[in-house]
Formats: sequence, C-alpha cells, structure tokens
Amino acid sequence: MKRNGLLRKTLIVCLFAAVAAFADKPDDTPGNGPTMQGGPPEVHVHHGNPHVSAAPPAGSNGVITPVITSHGGPVMNAPAVYLIWYGNWNQSNGSDNAAGQQIIRDLLYGMNGSPYYATNASYTGVSGKFSVAKETTDNYSQGFRLSDRGVANVVSNAINSSRLIKDSNGIYFVLSSSDVAETSGFCSQYCGWHTYGFLGGTNIKYAFVGNANRCLNSCAIQSVGPNGNAGVDGMASVVAHELEETNTDPNLNAWYDANGWEDADKCAWTFGSNLSQTANGAYYNMTLPTSTGGNRPFMIQRELDANSLCYVNYVTKAQ
Ligand SMILES: [Zn+2]
Repeated sequence: MKRNGLLRKTLIVCLFAAVAAFADKPDDTPGNGPTMQGGPPEVHVHHGNPHVSAAPPAGSNGVITPVITSHGGPVMNAPAVYLIWYGNWNQSNGSDNAAGQQIIRDLLYGMNGSPYYATNASYTGVSGKFSVAKETTDNYSQGFRLSDRGVANVVSNAINSSRLIKDSNGIYFVLSSSDVAETSGFCSQYCGWHTYGFLGGTNIKYAFVGNANRCLNSCAIQSVGPNGNAGVDGMASVVAHELEETNTDPNLNAWYDANGWEDADKCAWTFGSNLSQTANGAYYNMTLPTSTGGNRPFMIQRELDANSLCYVNYVTKAQ
C-alpha cells in the first residue's frame, strides 16, 4: 500500500498502544474464546482497470526506487497458508463457485516453489516456499458487510472453534464472495490487505482478499480472465501480492521502502512483457502446474526482490 513513513510510524505506535491497553484485560471471553487484539490493516492500493483493449502494463525492469530495506523485524521462512472461504462460494453467478475456489487452490499449489515465488527467497531468511495447510468456510458469521474487526473475528472464530489450528507460522486468508462488502474500502481504496494481531498471546498473521467480481474495474487487470472467471482470476493476483508481503513483512516492521511500500506494492499492477492470450482474449503471464498433473494459466503481478528489481522472467510456461 501507499503509506508514508510518518503514517506507518503512527500506525505502529497506535498498534502497540492498543496492544498495551488490552494487555491487562482478560482475552478469554467465555463462550467465544479469545478475540484478536490489534491489527490495523495494511491496505493494497486500488488501481483502475485498463481492460483487455490495451495490453496490461509491463512495468520497469530497472531498480524501483526508493529501494526496499529491512527494518529489522522478523520474516517468515516457510509459512503455512490457511484459507477461510467467507460468504457463499456456491452461487450461480459464474464466479463464486467451486470452480473459482479451485483456481485459488491451484494458484497456491503451483506457485509454491516456483521460479516466480522464489523471488521472495532473495530476502534473508525467506525460503521462497510455503505450505497450504487447511481450509474452512464461514457462512456470513459477520454478515454481508465485513469491517476490519469483522475480518479479525472470522479468523479468531475459525481458530477458536478448532476448524483451523492456531499457528504463529500461519497466514490466514479471509476470501470473501462477491456479495460481501469490506466497509473500510474494498473496491474503492484497496483490493486486499494484510496485518497481524494477537490471539490468546499468539501472533496471528491474516489477510483479506475479496472476489474481484464485485468490482472488476478496480480490482482486476482485465474484464475476462485466463480461466474464464474474471473475478477470481483477478483475485489470484491479489492473493499472491498479500502472501508475498506477509511473507517478507509479517509484523509490518521488516521489509518496506522509505514510503512505506512493501515488496509487492512496488511492482503492483505490472505484469512483465512476455504475455500470451487465451482463446477468450485474456492475457496471462505464467502457467502453473496443478496437483492433478495439468496446468493452468495465470495473470499475476510481478514481485520485487531484495535488490528492488521486479521479477521479469515470465516465460508463460511452468513457473
Ligand atoms: Zn500491498
């Protein structure tokens, strides 16, 4: 996201103040389990959609200044990804459906250990690999309008109910169906965000990414997708973005630049110059293997390495 240094600093001071304020409160609420403490969102800037009439932006191959630096906080070596499908992913709108869910699962399966994701291994202590641990669903427990706190509640409820384990090495993704709003600015201010909070004393990293079908003009690079699901195909790029940022800046105190931009922010909405098109006209820049031996095309934004260069080696084959 675009944050200036002062805002970031303010944000972090506020966060610690909030944690301190909560520290002497019991965080075990009978019946509900602990609630997430802290966690202002890092938000991903919203861009307009150039549509498929013009090729998506390739982006610069040079150093993206100001350069990214470590601010000393921890990174994640090989995080475990957890998925929480929020809302209703069994709709007949052609996007919020089982096939759409499989696009995200296939993205994660194929991206793990790929040359593309290995960009993250340039950051000391990051392996460039992750695991996909488990997934669960949440049938509108916080309604059709999620607040940031509501997203935290979705995560804490999934853990407190033992649908997902409590994992300080985890990254919990709340993936909302396109009939769900995130009222702090999904579609108008951002397409996704990541942050962290404390649940019963455990540091929990989590992210929100909504189905871009809600606002293709804002949160998808094109209005048709390489897998025929423009919303989820757009969402896939944002999932990659938030995963990379959480991997390299899980507590918002590790890798970012002088403007408060994290790694993926600096290459956001750029896709390299080696694009192909599927039969429906959608652009894609990589093909990833699937768990069933097939492969699938994706249009995934570039990622910044520790030398402040965006990944350029898209060859539109298995990455
Ligand atoms: Zn970001």
